[in-house]
Amino acid sequence: MDTIIQLQGINKTYNNGSPLHVLKGIDLEIRRGEMVSIMGASGSGKSTLLNILGILDSYDTGTYYLNGQLIKNPTETQAAEYRNRMIGFIFQSFNLINYKNAQENVALPLYYQGVSRRKRNAIALEYLDSLGLRDWATHMPNELSGGQKQRVAVARALITHPQIILADEPTGALDSKTSQEVMDLLREVNNTGMTVILVTHAQEVADQTDRIIRIKDGLIGSITDLKS
Ligand code: ADP
Ligand code: MG
Repeated sequence: MDTIIQLQGINKTYNNGSPLHVLKGIDLEIRRGEMVSIMGASGSGKSTLLNILGILDSYDTGTYYLNGQLIKNPTETQAAEYRNRMIGFIFQSFNLINYKNAQENVALPLYYQGVSRRKRNAIALEYLDSLGLRDWATHMPNELSGGQKQRVAVARALITHPQIILADEPTGALDSKTSQEVMDLLREVNNTGMTVILVTHAQEVADQTDRIIRIKDGLIGSITDLKS
């Protein structure tokens, strides 16, 4: 069994203001190629956990192995390098840059990899095409529907060939039909071998994943295996 993510005893306290002990010893293993969901009450630490997995935030104690590599207090340069090489992010609010068109938004991660404008725009157009958005390439985010914006965000996440997609409530701002389209898309992405980890409030979304991981009181409360 090929483990892509291994967390042991992860603790995280926010110290701005009175200390808030959010994660109290999280143990979790995720296998390469899995599609898992993380559920839990609002404020239970789902985003905190996802941000630690994405090396967007640090943890206090415990260990995090990503692809067998210990991730502990990386420099900002190292963290950015791991992220660029390994991880694609999708957010509830899409996080598109509103003064760049769809194609430029999708191409942005390649800019950070030093790919020429001409080449990155050509690749971005291929991704938009494969997601049915070729005709929308030169449109600005405010000209796109929510579902289209999230597809642009998925294309942007995929363009660097990450091994892991981290999605924080990717369907949280979408109606149920569009939400299902995004879930179908994430399952297609997963079927290509990418590991997908998503946070959701919606049971019908979580029910489409391989495992549901519930956070409760700072710990893994339960894990439901839907595949077996
Ligand atoms: P969830 O995503 O499950 O709703 P979060 O991980 O966003 O929960 O937040 C967990 C708790 O930590 C909440 O009480 C939240 O207010 C708090 N929190 C989140 N981020 C910060 C931060 N940067 N500084 C201080 N407290 C934070
Ligand atoms: Mg959250």
